[in-house]
Amino acid sequence: MRWALIGASTIAAQYMIRALWAEGGEIVRVVSASAERGASFAAMHGIPLSGITVEEAVADPDVDAVYISTTNEKHLPQALAAIAAGKHVLCEKPLAMSLADAVSMVRAAEEKSVVFATNHHLRCSGSHRAVQSLIRDGRIGRVLSLRVHHAVHLPENLQGWRINSPAAGGGVIPDITVHDADVVRFLTGEDPKTVVAQMAASGLGQGVEDSVMSVWTMPSGVMVMSHESFTHPFAGTGLEVHGTEGSIFARGVMTQNPVGEIELVTAAGREPVAYDPHDLYGEAVRRFHAAVAGHGGPAATGWDGVKSLAVALAVREAALTGAAVDVDYGGAK
Ligand code: NDP
Repeated sequence: MRWALIGASTIAAQYMIRALWAEGGEIVRVVSASAERGASFAAMHGIPLSGITVEEAVADPDVDAVYISTTNEKHLPQALAAIAAGKHVLCEKPLAMSLADAVSMVRAAEEKSVVFATNHHLRCSGSHRAVQSLIRDGRIGRVLSLRVHHAVHLPENLQGWRINSPAAGGGVIPDITVHDADVVRFLTGEDPKTVVAQMAASGLGQGVEDSVMSVWTMPSGVMVMSHESFTHPFAGTGLEVHGTEGSIFARGVMTQNPVGEIELVTAAGREPVAYDPHDLYGEAVRRFHAAVAGHGGPAATGWDGVKSLAVALAVREAALTGAAVDVDYGGAK
């Protein structure tokens, strides 16, 4: 698979370039809005070509797929351009700034019969899969509730558009709540129905929220409590799933790396749970390559990205209005 990177981004530099190479991909070009930054990014990462327009990159017959990791407001036009050129798309979350835009991207990909995936890495982790298996195998009985702890401290090098630019899609809700919505959907197999929420700017946010707490009701009646923040240096991350016959405590697993511990607690006692510590992003790329080759779907589809965005938008609306909000999935499959 020959890739074009759309965006000379931190996530590409820190995780995705390595994952693409490791999974047998070839990176043939990078697109940056700045010719100078694109050229230096290309040189730094051994990418042969750089350019400043998406149109040029997607017109390249040597490009099979694009990985979009620009700021959020750019995902829509860039994805549509790539799809129109017949390229497969792996797009960063949140897919777009609005539900309608996200739906239009996914529908365009369907019409053009190209693979479109959302880069929700957490569902690719061995730890989250182990938690899903425990639930599916009935090890905790009937699921009653989930608590998601995803309050972190935003690294200084990322304290730019995320904390001060509503226009670029800043704020912790589009940044992290989307991931947690995807994790909850992945673990429960259900789509959140109604949400209530409160949000705050607690030290970093300038014109956008940097902290949010929300409670979601699932169609089955399962309750979810979710906490995302950019301002918590020592809170640690975690995921708890509580059922009638047991509880799962997964600590330190809301992360980009295959780390953290899982413990199952039942009437029989406490039991550590082992999991496969593979690279999260490599797994996403492996599944994407397989999907393009006609073997199964990507780890997180476009519709998964639409749904995680739908939950995040409902959380923000609930926090803004103080009302309970039914999640509008915009007709997502
Ligand atoms: P960055 O801020 O690093 O990059 C976003 C854009 O900012 C780049 O496309 C680049 O524009 C520009 N940029 C980067 N560095 C500089 C610089 N030094 N000076 C000026 N401009 C610069 O964002 P992230 O990599 O953190 O996030 C990009 C996307 O990926 C977002 O949609 C985010 O939500 C998502 N993301 C997903 C993660 C996941 O685990 N799935 C994790 C982290 C981010 P240009 O391309 O024009 O050069």
